[in-house]
Amino acid sequence: MPTCQNCGHQWSWKTTFKKTLKINNGMICPFCGARQFATAKSRMRVGSLCSIIAPLLILSSYFLHLSAKELIAIGLPLTIAIILASPFLYELSNDEKPLW
Ligand SMILES: [Zn+2]
Repeated sequence: MPTCQNCGHQWSWKTTFKKTLKINNGMICPFCGARQFATAKSRMRVGSLCSIIAPLLILSSYFLHLSAKELIAIGLPLTIAIILASPFLYELSNDEKPLW
């Protein structure tokens, strides 16, 4: 779970999840009120995990001959699992840094 780089408090899953939904303006720490930003590395981690799902499902449907129903039955829980796990993947920084 991410830790505030200003006060050192660890954020809860619920706090992190809610704050990452509006990630563009930074996230206000609920403990000290400092603005925190997800590090480029952690944003990349979450982004690559999300972007790997679609090609993975397309490939597995091709090789395993899955129907659309089976594809949804696998893809939907997998997508939900990644969304729910994303707060564990974030790290915080005091400054906003671009990805590149
Ligand atoms: Zn803080």
